[in-house]
Amino acid sequence: MKKQLEKLIQMQKLDTIIGGKNILTKELPQQLNSLKQSLKDADETVAATKIEFDENLKDQKLKELDIADNNTKITKYKNQLLTIETNKEYKALNSEINHLEKQNSEIDDELIELMEAEAELKDRLEEEKNTQKDASNELKANEEKLEKEIQEVQKDIEDLKAKRNVLAKDLPRELIRRYAALIKNKNRKAVVFNDKNACSGCGYTIRPQVAIDIKAGNSVVYCESCGRILVTQL
Ligand SMILES: [Zn+2]
Repeated sequence: MKKQLEKLIQMQKLDTIIGGKNILTKELPQQLNSLKQSLKDADETVAATKIEFDENLKDQKLKELDIADNNTKITKYKNQLLTIETNKEYKALNSEINHLEKQNSEIDDELIELMEAEAELKDRLEEEKNTQKDASNELKANEEKLEKEIQEVQKDIEDLKAKRNVLAKDLPRELIRRYAALIKNKNRKAVVFNDKNACSGCGYTIRPQVAIDIKAGNSVVYCESCGRILVTQL
């Protein structure tokens, strides 16, 4: 019986380690995904700003063309002014020239705004590219390491389970079944100890006779409240 209890204690120790590693099998891929997501976000941000930047330059070109167009017309009309004979025609043409000049002045203001925006976009793009580079470096520095760790943890878990199963092999089937159910349903704690006459699993007070039974180690003693297996110490 003492051998059985010793085996259960060893199994519990292995299952506690497995529990910690199970958490890692969730956390490590999350860490890796988070690094990948950061880079993806940074890529998308840079791409969006690039589009905005290109559109700004395109707008500037169009406005410069509009100004050039208007200037051609203004020059042409000014030459026409020299040959015009009636006052009415002169006034009409002069008004058209004024209109075009006013339009050019407005387009010029818009151009200045676009140039200011261009400078801001340039700064923003620079910053976003730095963030992108950092994210890329961070992923490069950790991807391989994390993937290796994930594989190692999975391998460790398999090894630990194999060791635990070897220990379980000689135990009565009913006891293994009960142990497995406790691991599954009781927060991975199947074997607990007498902690100053209380169950270390649930805190339930251990009666004196039960404490004596635990200490004697001649039978498997279960907690009267949570059903876990009680031993003197882990
Ligand atoms: Zn208990």
